[in-house]
Amino acid sequence: MFSFPATILAGLLGLAFGSFLNVCLTRWPAGESVVKPRSHCRACERTLAWWENIPLVSWLALRGRCRTCGTAISIRYPMVELAVGALWATTVFQTIHHFQNAQAGLPYPIASFSALYLLQSATTIGAKMLLIWLLVGLAALDAERFWLPDIVTVPAILLGVAVSTFRGDSLFESPNPSAPILLRLLNLAFAILVAAGIILLIRWIYWLIRRREGIGLGDAKLMALLAAWLGLPGALLSFVMGVVLGALAGVAILGMPKLRHAKSPGLTRLPLGTFLCIGGIAATLWGPQILAGYLRWSGLSR
Ligand SMILES: [Zn+2]
Repeated sequence: MFSFPATILAGLLGLAFGSFLNVCLTRWPAGESVVKPRSHCRACERTLAWWENIPLVSWLALRGRCRTCGTAISIRYPMVELAVGALWATTVFQTIHHFQNAQAGLPYPIASFSALYLLQSATTIGAKMLLIWLLVGLAALDAERFWLPDIVTVPAILLGVAVSTFRGDSLFESPNPSAPILLRLLNLAFAILVAAGIILLIRWIYWLIRRREGIGLGDAKLMALLAAWLGLPGALLSFVMGVVLGALAGVAILGMPKLRHAKSPGLTRLPLGTFLCIGGIAATLWGPQILAGYLRWSGLSR
């Protein structure tokens, strides 16, 4: 019964963390501090009033323009805030329901005292929120700058290995505390090598045919990141969904000559990383359901 207030709280917290992510996305690539100075207009340098800093609401109230100089404020701001808010709310709602269903199936004394299960549920929620926050940030960074920085992806791979090892399995599966630690690490290492290997293989084939770089090494590290957090099934599902989404976006752009001739770098060259991140977020939240739905639809299982 506590799922409703917790979901709302997670959504509001997500809006705030989305807002902080925006500050990082704007200032960090420019080599500025993300703490000082206070929020200001990038064009006229005016420090923003408190009410111009409210996630989502302020952008809508200002209709996406600075109040003094009229410079457009990127649509990335409300999009990132809305994405983190809505995705965090979904994560908390899902995990609480899963937890309540699991508890309902247990006899009373065990249901009340499954502290380990509670700890694992809390770890799962926290880990999913952190992964989603990272993936929204990387998606925006790759869309704006075609950049998946090592300083973000490499530590995130190590963190994913730590979280998956602690849970006993990736976020794609239920926690499995009885799995031997060596087996957990071997599974993860295999998943990471295969996931990154797919990108390296495509990169190599592309180079053999075209003699130039097609896919960046950043995308290989992003696949390794997805494998560390979601295991091999999760990473492969993210990859398939990302490639399908990217192809659909490519076809949509080809169908709109106006967009194709616009001088926006994101339209002449598609950011694969952004689509992989979107696939990764969908796999984190709905992966097992998407796989089950696909198997039913294809007739492989009923
Ligand atoms: Zn301004």
